[in-house]
Amino acid sequence: MKNCIFCRIAAGEIPSATLYEDDKVRVILDLNPAARGHALVLPKRHYKDVTTMPKTLLGHVMKIGGQIGSAQKKAFGYDGFNLIQNNGRAAGQSVFHFHLHVIPRRKGDGVLGLWAPGSTTPEEMQETKEKIAAQL
Ligand code: 5GP
Ligand code: ZN
Repeated sequence: MKNCIFCRIAAGEIPSATLYEDDKVRVILDLNPAARGHALVLPKRHYKDVTTMPKTLLGHVMKIGGQIGSAQKKAFGYDGFNLIQNNGRAAGQSVFHFHLHVIPRRKGDGVLGLWAPGSTTPEEMQETKEKIAAQL
């Protein structure tokens, strides 16, 4: 994809702070990090989001994400890390080339507000489960 910024970064056409590279992925530092070391795992091939990604590549991306998170912890003494992946504008995706965020965390850092726990009922859960399962 000629006009995709992450295709161009992954291919090395645009310089990036690359932490790791192999034949399938490039891992770069995010330009607007949520925390120091915030990294993105980019497949070298273009997939718009998780729905079109091959299974083996997804496995590889997650494995590398875990290794990067562990390295962030060792490098800067972080306590943990989030692996986050946005699909669709409504979910916060702004670059439509699949990428996995690896965001290092410290206890109480307030870096991410994930979700406020809501509530449901057994009846609603039953109906919800049936509706989604019917689409699988
Ligand atoms: P999304 O919102 O799609 O999940 O995440 C896109 C991420 O890519 C953002 O965190 C943004 O800071 C990062 N980003 C966007 N353009 C560039 C770029 O040209 N270089 C780098 N290194 N990161 C980028
Ligand atoms: Zn792309």
